[in-house]
Amino acid sequence: MAVSKANRDLFLFGGIRLKTWYVEDAGGGCRAFGEILVLVCEETGEVYSATVPVTWNHKMGWEELVCQLMIKLMDQAQATIHDQYLVCSGNIFHTYHKWLTDHNYTWETHKMDGLAHEAAEGEFHRMAAEAGFPGMGLQERDYRSYYTELEKWVSSDPERKQKYWKDREVRKKPAVPRYVLKSNLRTSRTCQHCNKKIPPFSPVVELKFRKDGRKIRAFFHPECSPTKPLKTQLDQLEVQWKGNKLTGVIVPCPEEIHCSICGEAVEPGQRTFYAYKDNKLVCGHLHCFEQSKPSSETG
Ligand SMILES: [Zn+2]
Ligand SMILES: [Zn+2]
Repeated sequence: MAVSKANRDLFLFGGIRLKTWYVEDAGGGCRAFGEILVLVCEETGEVYSATVPVTWNHKMGWEELVCQLMIKLMDQAQATIHDQYLVCSGNIFHTYHKWLTDHNYTWETHKMDGLAHEAAEGEFHRMAAEAGFPGMGLQERDYRSYYTELEKWVSSDPERKQKYWKDREVRKKPAVPRYVLKSNLRTSRTCQHCNKKIPPFSPVVELKFRKDGRKIRAFFHPECSPTKPLKTQLDQLEVQWKGNKLTGVIVPCPEEIHCSICGEAVEPGQRTFYAYKDNKLVCGHLHCFEQSKPSSETG
């Protein structure tokens, strides 16, 4: 809904071919097996599907994981920003809805029927049948009987239950763990992945989650992050510094410093440029550094 109808008509007018993609899930109401996600184009008959695992341990929220899987499916399908998206309104897609809006996709919620619904249900049953479930698929939309039968079959065998029972804890909403790409401030951190130092005023991925009621924060080098953060608060700037290009971060100044260019004081709280040149911190007024931006001509 981020792109207005007028804009969409403009795309059409411009001759860009729009596809309509339907996004649907299946199996959310069943206590056994992970949910199925599908991305479907009715006109072309394309069906792309992914399975949410029964459990996972990488401290990601359920909706966030679903959003990551949807982004991967869109990649596979080569679905673009010019296409239109009709998405199931379920909770499972809340983060994905937000992601679509934030990235200016044309989308709306939709009461699913037709191919997308059939494909999602079909994939869910195919997964159960592959695991050995001997029963029939969904009959006349009687989900309760179908799911009860599936749950009984899965829980009748401890090993099977271990493998296919949904982990409800990782799917709980209040623990909103998320990875955010941002800039470190004056405290250096230790990367959870490589155990090396993340210097002050450099890009960092922060993970927040709750464990036993306690808020926990963990940090990674951007290249060490187990997942690509969906959210970014990183503000970067490339400048010309002593004949070289230098990329740094822009953050509110946490304590009074002196500008590397003009030598004047920078007040705490002011948006300030920080970068490293040969392991030495270069910092100062944003306006001083902005004047030394490399020109696009000399590139
Ligand atoms: Zn690291
Ligand atoms: Zn200055």
